[in-house]
Amino acid sequence: MERIYIGMGSNLVDPAEQLRSATLALAQLPQSELVGVSAFYQSDSLLPGQPRYTNAVAALDSTLAPLELLDALQSIENDQGRERLERWGPRTLDLDILLFGDRLIDEPRLKVPHYHMHERAFVLYPLAELAPVDLRLADGRSLAELLNACPFVGLERLATN
Ligand code: ATP
Ligand code: MG
Ligand code: MG
Repeated sequence: MERIYIGMGSNLVDPAEQLRSATLALAQLPQSELVGVSAFYQSDSLLPGQPRYTNAVAALDSTLAPLELLDALQSIENDQGRERLERWGPRTLDLDILLFGDRLIDEPRLKVPHYHMHERAFVLYPLAELAPVDLRLADGRSLAELLNACPFVGLERLATN
């Protein structure tokens, strides 16, 4: 089993409900066990003119291979109506593999750790609810360092999931 962290995001068609449905789908993945889900966080879109986002992070233990997991996550996105019209467009559901054990993955379809996680407060703060404080990325940076460099600005932690 490897511990995997998955970033979830939505800004269309009842985002919190999208994240709840995604959580149920993650709990049903084969060879896997859902370990936990962070609180939900709202923030403005990084791009202007899009609805606000709701984000969370899930922790999963799995023996799936990384590309098998990516396929499964993309199926869940598609099942929940994800349309890919433009890069970083509004979406019903985005599921990104943030960390996969301590692996460094550099394949055309899959880069892990996720390229932008270190600069995204809506990823780092929910991740910190689930991950050990001394968690390190494969490049040696600790989660604590990343949090220090990424202020909790513009995030609203919701009281209920
Ligand atoms: P961002 O990567 O900036 O969060 P995005 O999540 O909106 O953008 P998508 O349209 O969901 O991007 O995915 C584009 C492609 O990224 C996918 O087809 C997938 O193959 C690739 N990809 C690379 N690394 C990862 C990863 N760690 N998790 C999920 N998808 C990844
Ligand atoms: Mg993404
Ligand atoms: Mg994605």
